[in-house]
Amino acid sequence: MRAGRTLAAAVLATAIALVGTVAGTAGTTAQAGAPPAPECPASLHCRYAPAAYALVPGAKSASQYGDYDLANRPEDGDRIDTIVIHDTETSAAAAIHAFQHPADQASAHYLIGRDGSVTQLVPDRDIAWHAGNKYVNAHSIGIEHEGYAMRADFTEAEYRASAELVRWLAARYGIPLDRDHVIGHDEVPAPDAAHTAGMHWDPGPYWNWRHYLALLGTRLKGARRTPRVGETVTVDPPYGADYQPRVTGCDDVCPARPASFVYLRTGPSAYAPLITDPLARAGLKQPTGTTLGADWTDKAVVGQRFVVAAVRGDWTAIWFDGQRAWFHNPDGAAALASRGDGAVRGPAPLSGTAYPSASDFAAAGVPAPAAPAGPSRAVPAGQAYPAAGGAPLPSDYYYTDALSCSAPTDCLRVTGAQTYTALHFNHRLAFTPTR
Ligand SMILES: [Zn+2]
Repeated sequence: MRAGRTLAAAVLATAIALVGTVAGTAGTTAQAGAPPAPECPASLHCRYAPAAYALVPGAKSASQYGDYDLANRPEDGDRIDTIVIHDTETSAAAAIHAFQHPADQASAHYLIGRDGSVTQLVPDRDIAWHAGNKYVNAHSIGIEHEGYAMRADFTEAEYRASAELVRWLAARYGIPLDRDHVIGHDEVPAPDAAHTAGMHWDPGPYWNWRHYLALLGTRLKGARRTPRVGETVTVDPPYGADYQPRVTGCDDVCPARPASFVYLRTGPSAYAPLITDPLARAGLKQPTGTTLGADWTDKAVVGQRFVVAAVRGDWTAIWFDGQRAWFHNPDGAAALASRGDGAVRGPAPLSGTAYPSASDFAAAGVPAPAAPAGPSRAVPAGQAYPAAGGAPLPSDYYYTDALSCSAPTDCLRVTGAQTYTALHFNHRLAFTPTR
């Protein structure tokens, strides 16, 4: 599902004085004449339909534009290291139509149709507004899939075309084809706690991650056995007729279908309540501890990794969102066990972005993004969470203000000395300063 710039970015965008609207200083996206050739493997049916890059109707300043940012990735230092999987919740034609209007304030690099056709909307080097997190946008490629999460109507042609495109992009930009780097929109962290409730949950509980990973040639690590405390488990329930968890949020109870997640409970019993998100409990307007398909707070998804906190009979507890979360895992039926490595141990602060420090922004002469609003998450003492994504991430921030990079210090990448480690904290990734 589409998600525009973060609120922080929008606030920033209106806070800066403007100097004209002359054409770009950083990007060189073609806006006139024939559209560029799509960046696509030759074996796919690809076309280019440019997303809007223009002022919104009635704009009072050059800061009010859509639907993406000019950049020059990866040559400008902004590595492309993540693929974000979305679904449209509308027809392909309607989604493309929206992306071609700047008032929509959202875009994606690619859209895969139900027939397996590929439409590129934003050049890879530019930053599409798709993840609802400016840091993740700056380092990712967003791919929309025509379909509806709760109808589970993604086609085989769609899965195959998407996987072929992602393999090609991974080779082009050096993106590891694993679940730390190929993620759902539902796994993108909120930039801060105040935005948690608005974060999207596509492609939803029925996206067939197992099948998609097989098409990518990705094998999940681990052995199918009962795990031991302190080991890592990779969530991997069967996808088929013998595993059809009850889900609500279709008209009522959804039809029995295979799904890509396990429910997480407060105790080692099918009668124990589903876990709830502490922030949601504290007042966020999001469902938590429910069987709703949209409720990501009590579901762990195929490919996500966690540290084992306890084992009792057929039940495995993982550290998840600061609590012990139990799932039914007889003989490893729902997760692969492996030796733990690279875990982040508490206490450790968490954030939804890996931005430079205030002094780095001051040194660059660029206004710092607004400080995170609301309570923050943290890894409690005594708990551990698997690091995601290998090497520490340099902190950076891609500053944008006006259309065509026309404002002072516009389209500038601010960097800092602090590095961050990504980790699997709950259903979504998180970042912590590297120690
Ligand atoms: Zn989305």
